[in-house]
Amino acid sequence: MTEKWRINCKTAAINFAEQRDISCNEQYMINLFRKTETKTWITTSKGYIVPLKENLMSSTKTYAAQEATTPLAPWTIKRRAPKPHDVEIQILYCGVCHSDLHTARNEWGGTIFPCVPGHEIVGKVTAVGDHVKKFKAGDLAGVGCLVDSCRDCDNCKEGLEQYCSNGMVGTYNGKEKDGSGNTYGGYSKSIVVHEDFVLHISDKLPLEAVAPLLCAGITTYSPLRHWKIGKGHKVGILGLGGLGHMGVKLAAAMGAEVTMLSHTASKEADAKRLGAHQFVLTSDAEQVKKVTGNFDFILDIVSADHDYNFYLSLLRTNGVMVCVGAPPSPAQIPAFNLIFGRKSFAGSLIGGLPETQEMLDYCAEHNIVSDVEVIAMKDINEAYERMLKGDVRYRFVIDMATL
Ligand code: NAP
Ligand code: ZN
Ligand code: ZN
Repeated sequence: MTEKWRINCKTAAINFAEQRDISCNEQYMINLFRKTETKTWITTSKGYIVPLKENLMSSTKTYAAQEATTPLAPWTIKRRAPKPHDVEIQILYCGVCHSDLHTARNEWGGTIFPCVPGHEIVGKVTAVGDHVKKFKAGDLAGVGCLVDSCRDCDNCKEGLEQYCSNGMVGTYNGKEKDGSGNTYGGYSKSIVVHEDFVLHISDKLPLEAVAPLLCAGITTYSPLRHWKIGKGHKVGILGLGGLGHMGVKLAAAMGAEVTMLSHTASKEADAKRLGAHQFVLTSDAEQVKKVTGNFDFILDIVSADHDYNFYLSLLRTNGVMVCVGAPPSPAQIPAFNLIFGRKSFAGSLIGGLPETQEMLDYCAEHNIVSDVEVIAMKDINEAYERMLKGDVRYRFVIDMATL
């Protein structure tokens, strides 16, 4: 093959790979490409193996916050070409988590702008690197809140990558470990992720309703499992939002006696439909009195500042209250509120990869999905405002076909 041929082949290969489609004689082209020097091979959505230049980047449409005070708006980014262990996913749906809003508005500090939120991602595999074993083009796939970690520390070795001692890499607002730049999340058409951080998704459940499991599902599943919640436990789920409604469904499925603790009276019927055995309106002193000193376990999922001490008083002796909600202000808890009753106040962060897959399989087996309102990408700013007002039943999910 002459040098000129090689150059032509490479150019054609790049065009081919970029478009994931070709109109000329495909097998002939593929045979030709196989003779080029390109080292990275990917499998296209049509099942063809084609070479890809390692530095090839593809343009991807997203919605991003350019600053904390500006609404999210269209923005184009570059995604890397799949490396040998990478999976490229066409995003079909992405859930809208309250953490997206906290981050886009820099409520926790430390947001890297421009910021493309979204970590409840489901879609279809469009290409895989040539060493990928777990996925092939056409498979359903999910990505949650993290896309990388060191794999080497004690936490990673235990499958607790979210607590990686060397710092996990968030799906958005993170920095790639190879120094190639910032991570951008699921409010986009596609994403490229190392196969270790990609999850298998069942084709038995509606995809849009599965998306929120990738954060809301695992964040509630993980503490319920860690504290071994099941039959005989009295559990309070505090806050009926995106995470809260998954908490109710999962705790009920695990056999616990579940009480919904909510500051919104109109959510009572929904709470019971979702699986709660009781509903307590936390602003009603009479109702609260009946459950004071009552719970073995409270999962606190409130996104706004609130008085932790009030809810600690609802725990029985040895009771545990676990914070997963992350309001911006620090908690103020007098030691005596824990000392009397030997109570524990703990926290929990999303879940590791093995447990996330376990949760997805558990949900597929028990037919558990999220209650969703599917929205168009352009409606994201309005969705944020509605989420702040508690006007969501119970998770917004973006249909990426609208981007
Ligand atoms: P969400 O859908 O907005 O739900 C939050 C719920 O909190 C509301 O539905 C409401 O429930 C309750 N609430 C809101 N304001 C309140 C107030 N002033 N007083 C009492 N209750 C109030 O949010 P989400 O997506 O479920 O996220 C919840 C929190 O979890 C966020 O802070 C998010 O950042 C955090 N989070 C943490 C992790 C983790 O790994 N730890 C992962 C994901 C998200 P009621 O109307 O029933 O009272
Ligand atoms: Zn989240
Ligand atoms: Zn690690």
